[in-house]
Amino acid sequence: MNIVPRALGILISAGGILATVTYVNHIHAQLRMQAMSDELTALPNRRHFRQQLAHYHGEPLALMLIDLDHFKQINDRYGHDVGDDVLIEFGQLLHRLCPAEALAARLGGEEFALLIPTEQTAVLDHLAERILHGSHDIRISAQQHLTVSIGAGIRQPDETVDRLMKRVDEALYQAKEGGRNQLVWALDTDLVAPSHHG
Ligand code: GH3
Ligand code: MG
Ligand code: MG
Repeated sequence: MNIVPRALGILISAGGILATVTYVNHIHAQLRMQAMSDELTALPNRRHFRQQLAHYHGEPLALMLIDLDHFKQINDRYGHDVGDDVLIEFGQLLHRLCPAEALAARLGGEEFALLIPTEQTAVLDHLAERILHGSHDIRISAQQHLTVSIGAGIRQPDETVDRLMKRVDEALYQAKEGGRNQLVWALDTDLVAPSHHG
């Protein structure tokens, strides 16, 4: 038996296997990325956000929840495609303003979130201000521009991330109730759930 064609055959098979493995790895990485990102805005999605949030233990951690105002009305008036464009533009704004060490995500619908490893309220106030202003620059029509409502909070020692989420969500609700287009800070845990010391 001739050794050359045999060796060649083995080499070709090995090459084929390597190519297949590389291809499968590539598809796997692609699927993983798709599972973690939002199709419309390309921002990380709720699943990615929840995973990151779970890993932030022990760090200083601030959370912002942002909800586009009167978004249903935008869809109803100008159509779903215009609504989609507004979501894309807002996603880009958030991506632009998001500090390098922070995470911006689309939680679903017209709700977005920022995870920021800081406990400095001034930093967050400034960031919220820029988001409110940037939203104002997103035009929906000649007469109408975008506004958003923001809830913000800083994780307290020993506070669970779920508790923080609840507090900040409540603040977002207050921002809506208070007339929208504004930031509302979450109350301290103590104030939300008063502890009764005998
Ligand atoms: P509020 O100011 O209180 O937040 O009112 P809203 O109208 O923004 O809130 P509501 O929850 O009533 O409506 C949200 C709308 O967002 C309804 C839904 O059809 C729309 N929406 C959710 N996801 C998408 C999307 O991917 N694209 C578009 N165009 N619309 C979406
Ligand atoms: Mg809304
Ligand atoms: Mg909403």
